[in-house]
Amino acid sequence: MRLADATWTDADAADTDLAVVPVGSTEQHGPHAPLGTDHFTAQAVAEAGADAYDDGEVVVAPPVTVGVSEEHRQFTGTLWVSPETFRATVRDVVGSLASHGWDRVVVVNGHGGNVPALGEVCATISRHDDAYAVPFTWFDAVGDHSADMGHAGPLETAFLRHTDPELIREDRVDAAADGASDGWGEWTSHANLAVDVAEFTENGVVGDPREGDGERGAELLDLATESLCDLLAAVADRDTDRPPHR
Ligand SMILES: [Zn+2]
Repeated sequence: MRLADATWTDADAADTDLAVVPVGSTEQHGPHAPLGTDHFTAQAVAEAGADAYDDGEVVVAPPVTVGVSEEHRQFTGTLWVSPETFRATVRDVVGSLASHGWDRVVVVNGHGGNVPALGEVCATISRHDDAYAVPFTWFDAVGDHSADMGHAGPLETAFLRHTDPELIREDRVDAAADGASDGWGEWTSHANLAVDVAEFTENGVVGDPREGDGERGAELLDLATESLCDLLAAVADRDTDRPPHR
């Protein structure tokens, strides 16, 4: 059930304790892919996973569309919130879901920069609130493809070519590849010297978007959906009581 499309009476009739919250960002994705890429992909995975789950209903919350993206700030259109604000937003959204009885929540993430804050807030929720929350980042759950993630590179371009092909500016993909960097960050002694993405990529792209066709995008969505579905089953079955003090 997509919460944003439902009425409150529909929501009231939902007999489940499971919910998913898509979280992403609004940030540059090169000259060829939209600023909303990370919340579009998170929402698509969240909805597909909820649809594929066949052991009951799953409430799909509307997406959190601005995330921890300050590293993209030199690229026009990028929006960001602080990690504190992001954690507080996710905590309150999960808390409001839980108040209606949907207190087992998977937060479906589409943005790498959200990962640390998301892990922290999900642990805080599970420890201290009346809810259990687990982070799930879709591009970590696509098998061998994960190694090619980059930024606005093969995976995200492939994904959107499958789900929202009109959003990829095909006439700019060659230029996107020409201005891309090969890897994320500037590494010395296992430390990343770069703070902002603009330090290591000219046009915002990391990886080659030409290596991501729609067929690959369909495979990515299938893999992420299957993985999320398995996770929902595990979350539904889990004993969420905290262990007693030893
Ligand atoms: Zn992205």
